[in-house]
Amino acid sequence: MKDYDKMTYEEKLKDSVYSHNYICADCKKDIYNENRHDVAGYKKVCDACYFVRIEKENEIMTDLLTGLLNCGYRDLDNIMDCKYDMEDLIEEVKNSGDESIDINNLTYAMFEKGKEEIRTSIENRIEEIEEEINNTEDKKEIKNLKKELKEIKNLDPYEDIGSFHNYCDTSIYFNEDKGDIYKKYFQEALDEFYENTGFNID
Ligand SMILES: [Zn+2]
Repeated sequence: MKDYDKMTYEEKLKDSVYSHNYICADCKKDIYNENRHDVAGYKKVCDACYFVRIEKENEIMTDLLTGLLNCGYRDLDNIMDCKYDMEDLIEEVKNSGDESIDINNLTYAMFEKGKEEIRTSIENRIEEIEEEINNTEDKKEIKNLKKELKEIKNLDPYEDIGSFHNYCDTSIYFNEDKGDIYKKYFQEALDEFYENTGFNID
């Protein structure tokens, strides 16, 4: 019988018995199939070592991101609640003519995407109202629909919503007094904007 406790890591790896079990590449303890994790280079690690690696990985990712996006750790919060595809946003920044990507123009691209969705909600509602007007005889309802149409038809999120971009001191707001009209008719779209960006339009 071999004394596995006395074998070196390399000897264990070569041993056929151990081809059924695994040895953690980090702590060198035996691990079993149910709690091994595959990591870089076809290595296997145990649960405990895996979590250590995840933490290390988070640190590396944060360093990479703050370095690449030219910002501090807290500034990354700007995009942490973003539900849009990051690749799409990066593509937007690249197409915008900015020389490099940083946290500010990335946040800007996220806001632009959110505004586009609000604009789509407005366009859809306008179409819906026009249809409703054509399909009803009810004079009171027509009057109300026309009133709403008049109020919303000139809305343009790209004009009505402004934003300030300065790392973690970034905000988005309604220009002039447009907020009330948006809140009156498009609260759902504003909620969605918040869901997708993590920012409330003030
Ligand atoms: Zn381990």
